Amino acid sequence: MNDISKPELETLVKLQEAETQIVRLKAVLEKVEKEKIKLSAKLKQFGNALEDNEKNLLKARTACRDIEQEIQVVDQRIIKSNEKLRMVKTNKEYQLFLREVDDSKQRKDALETELLEHMDEREKMEQIVQASEKEYHLLKDQIEAEQTEMDQQSTDDREQLEEYLDQQNDIGKHLDPALMKRFLRISKMNQGLAVVGVSNEVCLGCFMNIPPQLFIDVQRGDSLISCPQCSRILYYVKE
Ligand SMILES: [Zn+2]
Repeated sequence: MNDISKPELETLVKLQEAETQIVRLKAVLEKVEKEKIKLSAKLKQFGNALEDNEKNLLKARTACRDIEQEIQVVDQRIIKSNEKLRMVKTNKEYQLFLREVDDSKQRKDALETELLEHMDEREKMEQIVQASEKEYHLLKDQIEAEQTEMDQQSTDDREQLEEYLDQQNDIGKHLDPALMKRFLRISKMNQGLAVVGVSNEVCLGCFMNIPPQLFIDVQRGDSLISCPQCSRILYYVKE
């Protein structure tokens, strides 16, 4: 048990008040940062989905264009075969060019069927991209608004944190460095709560009863007393 003056104990209580705010603000700021990262990741996920859909649409468009071009080529072939048909001299030639025309027409039919399927796909993808773009922009606006609000709040919180850190620094100047060190060590061990009141013989840090003799010492307030259970520095709170 170290001897301590009443003003020193009061200083420790003030130090704790600042520490409590510092710990709270740091936790809030950390949570906001995590939330911001989560929102960015969510937006990126939607952005990636949109990109995938756009790629699929591009593929569907290319497939349609390729088939349309092939149909044009087949059409040209049919025209040429028909021209040749008009100028045939032998039955053999006639049969040959006729088969050419038939083959080309069959190929064209197959291509047209294929084109219809790809056009359906293209239409479907256009609708998906449209919906996906709308969804993405809505989400982007929403997330950006949320992040702006968070940034504003964080700026305020950071200013407050600076104030409390300055305050703690000032308080520390009036405190024995060894006591300050002890305070910081206990605070670190106890999630930022190093100095707690005792009310009704109960430590308000761990809510355990403290022995009656120790309670009397705490009430007297002329020595530094730690809670036997949680090691926090104790001070007396009038009931
Ligand atoms: Zn305790």
